[in-house]
Amino acid sequence: MSPTPAYKRVLLKVSGEALMGERDYGLDTETVTRIAADVADVCAMGVQVSLVIGGGNIFRGVSAAAGGMDRAQADYMGMLATVMNALAMQNALEKRGVPTRVQSAIPMASVCEPYIRRRAERHMEKGRVVIFAAGTGNPFFTTDTAAALRAAEMGCNALLKGTQVDGVYSADPRKRPDAQRYEQLTYLDVLARDLAVMDASAISLARENRLPIIVFNIHAPGAFVQVMRGEGRFTTIVE
Ligand code: UDP
Repeated sequence: MSPTPAYKRVLLKVSGEALMGERDYGLDTETVTRIAADVADVCAMGVQVSLVIGGGNIFRGVSAAAGGMDRAQADYMGMLATVMNALAMQNALEKRGVPTRVQSAIPMASVCEPYIRRRAERHMEKGRVVIFAAGTGNPFFTTDTAAALRAAEMGCNALLKGTQVDGVYSADPRKRPDAQRYEQLTYLDVLARDLAVMDASAISLARENRLPIIVFNIHAPGAFVQVMRGEGRFTTIVE
């Protein structure tokens, strides 16, 4: 087992739903604490880590719009939901002694820093975890796209997508036991086969910036560390 991390700087995207644990809504403190522990272990390896956390466990714009709400208004609510998740993760990381900064794409001076690229980069160089909150700051986007955008801006070596299963499958393996698991895919494979891994704008942005995407199971304790060593089970999406 090689102790050397394969990456210097990464961005991990965690969906809001991943923070729910067994709940139907909101945050499960135990789950947030466990994911924070994995992030702390990766930081201890010397990897510079940043995070984008979704908001789907609290509010999803597209669902509210389907219920009759104005889409842009609903999306702003969704972005605010991601700030709550970011603050919960910051709390869990700092409890483990990991210095963490939250930067929001929607400025809210009394809660966290505004997003400033150069400052975020400096935080990372100093070994602080930066959590990018409020997505891209624009309605009609998703936190997947925000993750690809921030990873490109930060010059990350890889974009990690923590999901419910250990990689990308041809169908949901929890519903379809015959689903095929992929070890490696190209960006175009994902787009052409419409694989449910990240939305198309996130995949396109990663492709334009030659940013490898690594999909792994966020709920398997220690999986993040293993992936950083190039071990364990994951799917890589590259050119
Ligand atoms: N959102 C947005 N612009 C962004 C990112 C997110 O409007 O750049 C809103 C959108 O309403 C979305 C919600 O925030 O539904 C929560 O984000 P997302 O659905 O990506 O969270 P996840 O599915 O990862 O939990």
